[in-house]
Amino acid sequence: MLSVHCGGGKCHPHALYYGSRQGITPNHTMLNLSNGNGKLANDTLIFNLPAGKTCPGAMFCKSFAVVDENGKRKIQDGEYTEFRCFAASSEVQYDAVYNNRAHNLQLIVDALKNGSAADLIHDSIQHNRTRKTAKVRIHESGDFFSGAYLDAWIEVANRNPDLKFYCYSKSLQLFQGFKLPENFYMTASYGGKFDYLIDAGYFPRYSKVVMNDDDAANLGLEVDHDDSHCFGEKPFALLVHGTQPKGSIWGAAIRIRRAANKFGGYNKKNRQSVTV
Ligand code: SF4
Repeated sequence: MLSVHCGGGKCHPHALYYGSRQGITPNHTMLNLSNGNGKLANDTLIFNLPAGKTCPGAMFCKSFAVVDENGKRKIQDGEYTEFRCFAASSEVQYDAVYNNRAHNLQLIVDALKNGSAADLIHDSIQHNRTRKTAKVRIHESGDFFSGAYLDAWIEVANRNPDLKFYCYSKSLQLFQGFKLPENFYMTASYGGKFDYLIDAGYFPRYSKVVMNDDDAANLGLEVDHDDSHCFGEKPFALLVHGTQPKGSIWGAAIRIRRAANKFGGYNKKNRQSVTV
């Protein structure tokens, strides 16, 4: 998500290895999950898929990493992109991020074909969780690309009542009229094909990307910096961050904030711990 649905797709170089705990041997039969990153504390397991390519509902944030004829990765924006997906930029920048998410997608697609996706996700969570793990952030990068894939996560949430699962999504058509488990928190993310479902009132908790604190205040929205609002009842705002297309007014807004010593991006120094 700009970094944004995904609340925006924040990933961190520390989360680049197969298996998130340092020293763990790469496991190619398990999904890659990381324990925390620059935005989220270590009590949160994070699972990611390739940005943009797995986001059928994305519009204004849609960007993805492509490989050119020389084997070099570059960013490609979608037809309607206004603010660039931070998660896609990370895939261009870091080999391991790109490979890690491609690995996850391949395993998920294979598992969906043979009906074992819920087992794969559940087993991978048990493999990566620690004593501290209390939450699972689904998709800082990526989104629910099919109903069967969403069903698998719902089954996993039902199998793990001690964990809180949460996500942002623009695949809102999949959630319409759906009763989610009590430990599954979905925040509808503005900026996609299915915004009209938010406008129609189906998703009281939604997030909206804004340029600065004043814009959020004018909309009557609090700004979230640590995903704590994902567990509340109200809509909220996210500040645009990350690299933006040349000439973008969103990029200009980030530069103005930085020049004023205001929020410029996430890192471990400004990370806040969330208790839910
Ligand atoms: S919905 Fe997809 S393209 Fe949009 S910000 Fe999230 S990961 Fe990026």
